[in-house]
Amino acid sequence: MTLNIILLGPPGAGKGTQAARLEDEHGMVQLSTGDMLRAAVKAGTPIGVQAKAVMDAGELVSDDIVSGLIGERLDQLGAETSVIFDGYPRTAAQADALDTILSDRGRQLDHVIELLVEEDALVDRITGRFSCGTCGAGYHDRYKLPKVADTCDQCGGHDFKRRPDDNEETVRTRMAEYRAKTAPILPIYDARGIVTRVDGMAPIDQVNDAIEAVLTPAG
Ligand code: ADP
Ligand code: AMP
Repeated sequence: MTLNIILLGPPGAGKGTQAARLEDEHGMVQLSTGDMLRAAVKAGTPIGVQAKAVMDAGELVSDDIVSGLIGERLDQLGAETSVIFDGYPRTAAQADALDTILSDRGRQLDHVIELLVEEDALVDRITGRFSCGTCGAGYHDRYKLPKVADTCDQCGGHDFKRRPDDNEETVRTRMAEYRAKTAPILPIYDARGIVTRVDGMAPIDQVNDAIEAVLTPAG
């Protein structure tokens, strides 16, 4: 069965971490607008040039740009590929656009999984976050260190990096954007009865178990 799910939650809630687990365990594909925008910035495309200052400030890139990226990326996938939307939608306009994008492609939204994490923990997670510069695997200074020091578990690389927007000041702006523009879209999905709330404060494996229970209910 093809699944289309949204992982929703503030910056640092664990969306990318859990999406990577679902990719590994189920062959689902993570569609992260943040990753797509960072790739555009790195490549110096017109979208990247436009988005860079907005991202550095922790504000939101325009709805048309991110919805365009999602539509393009979905078109590159087979109709049978299950997808995880990570960091999209972030506004009511994006939620509307996603409905159209999915129905135009014969897809429908199955689950919205909201990761609940306290704000102090979010700052702690984001300021300790780093990733492998070669394969992108995610780590944390205290909660998820590589098994062998300075060596990526996934690809053996030794080059790690931190995001320029992962500083406390920008994080506060990103959280304010989440509260003002993203949290208000939840009632749209609540009304459809497709939201499950998961305790994102739990350790990574337990959060994964809770998400698995939503995707493959017992019985
Ligand atoms: P998001 O994609 O929602 O912004 P990430 O998945 O990048 O968040 O997680 C932010 C940071 O917190 C990463 O460094 C990650 O290793 C760490 N992290 C993720 N989930 C947990 C968890 N359940 N407990 C502790 N740390 C976590
Ligand atoms: P993320 O990787 O999800 O934390 O996103 C990093 C930054 O990219 C955000 O702070 C925004 O500036 C931008 N961004 C990512 N996804 C979106 C989106 N769906 N809508 C608007 N801006 C986005």
